Amino acid sequence: MRIVVGVVVTVVAFAVTGRRVWWLYRLLRAGQPAADRVGAAKVAAVKGGGGQATEVIGQRKLLAWTVPGLAHAFTFWAFLVLMLTIAEAYGALVDDHFGIGDWWGLGFVEDVFAVAVLIALVVFTVIRYRASPARRGRASRFYHSHTGAAWGILAMIFAVIATLLVYRGAQMNTGHFPYRPYPWSFASWLVAKALHPLGAANQGVETFFVLAQLVVVLAFLVFVTYSKHLHIMLAPFNIYFARKPNALGPLLPMYSGDHRIDFENPADDDNFGRAKIEDFTVKGLLDLATCTECGRCQSACPAWNTGKVLNPKLLITGLRDHLFESAPRLLSGTRAAQDLPPLVGLAEAGAVIDPEALWACTSCGACVQECPVDIEHVDHIMDLRRHEVLVKSAFPAEAAPMLRNLENAGNPWGMPAATRLAWTEGLPFDVRVIGAGEQIPGDVEYLFWVGCAGASDDRARHTTRAIAQLLHTAGVSLAVLGPRETCTGDPARRIGNEFVYQMLAEQNIATLHEVKARKIVASCPHCFNTIGREYPQLGGDFEVVHHTELLAALVAEGRLQATSAFDASVTYHDPCFLGRHGGVYDPPRDVLSAVPGVTAVEMPRCRERGFCCGAGGARMWMEERVGKRINHERIDEALTLDPDIVATACPYCRVMLGDAVKDRQSDGTARGDVEVIDVAEILLRSVRGNPPRIDD
Ligand code: SF4
Ligand code: SF4
Repeated sequence: MRIVVGVVVTVVAFAVTGRRVWWLYRLLRAGQPAADRVGAAKVAAVKGGGGQATEVIGQRKLLAWTVPGLAHAFTFWAFLVLMLTIAEAYGALVDDHFGIGDWWGLGFVEDVFAVAVLIALVVFTVIRYRASPARRGRASRFYHSHTGAAWGILAMIFAVIATLLVYRGAQMNTGHFPYRPYPWSFASWLVAKALHPLGAANQGVETFFVLAQLVVVLAFLVFVTYSKHLHIMLAPFNIYFARKPNALGPLLPMYSGDHRIDFENPADDDNFGRAKIEDFTVKGLLDLATCTECGRCQSACPAWNTGKVLNPKLLITGLRDHLFESAPRLLSGTRAAQDLPPLVGLAEAGAVIDPEALWACTSCGACVQECPVDIEHVDHIMDLRRHEVLVKSAFPAEAAPMLRNLENAGNPWGMPAATRLAWTEGLPFDVRVIGAGEQIPGDVEYLFWVGCAGASDDRARHTTRAIAQLLHTAGVSLAVLGPRETCTGDPARRIGNEFVYQMLAEQNIATLHEVKARKIVASCPHCFNTIGREYPQLGGDFEVVHHTELLAALVAEGRLQATSAFDASVTYHDPCFLGRHGGVYDPPRDVLSAVPGVTAVEMPRCRERGFCCGAGGARMWMEERVGKRINHERIDEALTLDPDIVATACPYCRVMLGDAVKDRQSDGTARGDVEVIDVAEILLRSVRGNPPRIDD
């Protein structure tokens, strides 16, 4: 009889699950081809298989949050180990004495993980209670998550472990338990003690709970495919197909279907960005279906943390819900979408994403960094922006002058090319300029890419001059392009105007090829990222270092000697495009630690968890009308350490944090002598004998 019951529930559960899995497969296949992704994943499997293993099996990203990470990791590992107990339960249907061998160690390990899951459940319960939206409102990382389903899952996991321990305890009393001596399976053994008074009734308990175990496990299987816990099934695939090493750094080129868009000769039916849900690639749709609603991205997002509408979790789950609602249309083969509401627009019009949310993103990458299942938020946000800008010309009006300036002057501030060398005035040495028709001489080691901010902004010019003076002191020969340098195109690309980006990028690549650029040092992390990691997409392969990398190397080689004591407490702000996007965390810190007298203090949100200054994603050229200003949030965090200097390594961060510190000095919450400067300026002051402070 128990065999019949076991077979029936198994067949029913697999039929229901299989139907759902097939439905999901067809739904995800409704997306566009994921260009190069399968190939990239294959390469990664060979080169970076370790990364996949540490992320899935090792739970690397989850463990970045220690307590919930450990609880999740033990639950996941238990999930693998307890597969054996499911096999044992099926075996017990046909043979009371069934076991996978009879070694005591297996029974012990199974019990260890069963108990670990029970402890993890207590941890999850406490976390979910303490961080519940009812208690913490918008600050809860479970804000608008499906918390009911999450509690249901916790209850089911408890039922899996409880039925397991009860049938194993009963098996000990009936003599059917395969692993001896029994006390090694300590948790089951304790349950056996409790059940012992039931005497012969243990046989009935054993049979009932073996079946109950299978029913609960199968119900869990069905529930997983219909709930947010789908991630248990999809996460390994999503991580496998994710960009390697992650979706930070370069943006992807624009594809329409299976081909890259040729902006000089676009096809009539090319899709620019994402207008409807089926414009997402298969990997994009897989991203949406994989979200666990854990809220880690939301907790790290500077926009959400300062009161903006943008919440990366809700952006993904909103698109996911829309995907599932669109399933009848997508699966029926009726692809017509003319009458559908737009993806980006007002909620009253049925749209999925509020334009306020779309434009609030600073492209800082904190969400991508945090996501334990490798969802690629920034790629999706940028693809949505691309459609808004390129097709609908819909973007914040205040950013229009920036785009016009880029097209007309190759500089987002519209500064004429002739002013690009203004920063060199008064330097005690000549800066070599590569003129029209010239190539970089063989004795020049680095082409110094100054960047628009470094050439145009008064404060950033201090950094530019400091870098040039340090390199000159170290005997590093350098040259600049002067008026021939134009914006790399980063602000245009991040706002979604790929057309203007490509125009500028191709112009710069042609210039760099013409002058035969070999090694480039960039002072702006955005230039560093764009030239070094995005220009290869357009055929421009150059060796690019950030100035902090070069300065750290020169200090290490003894070519730069920081001799004068600085005597200041300094906290370093990680620029997003240098740290998270570029992976450069140590060189700026190495430079600071080489300066005698500097007391370096870290902000709570530093390195991979660094908090944006608010300027990325072309936000530098947009108004910030909602919530607290992001630069104020960041400077407030820095000021809690009472530093003398807030150091950074990016001209945009320097401007944003410099403005914020001035605001705080005006309202009396910051000391009047707190400075925001680049690490290069700190090094220069020490190398040159601590000259007076640079006055912004
Ligand atoms: S990139 Fe930064 S600002 Fe944009 S959604 Fe992610 S965390 Fe938020
Ligand atoms: S997108 Fe990633 S980090 Fe954000 S809620 Fe979903 S799974 Fe968690």
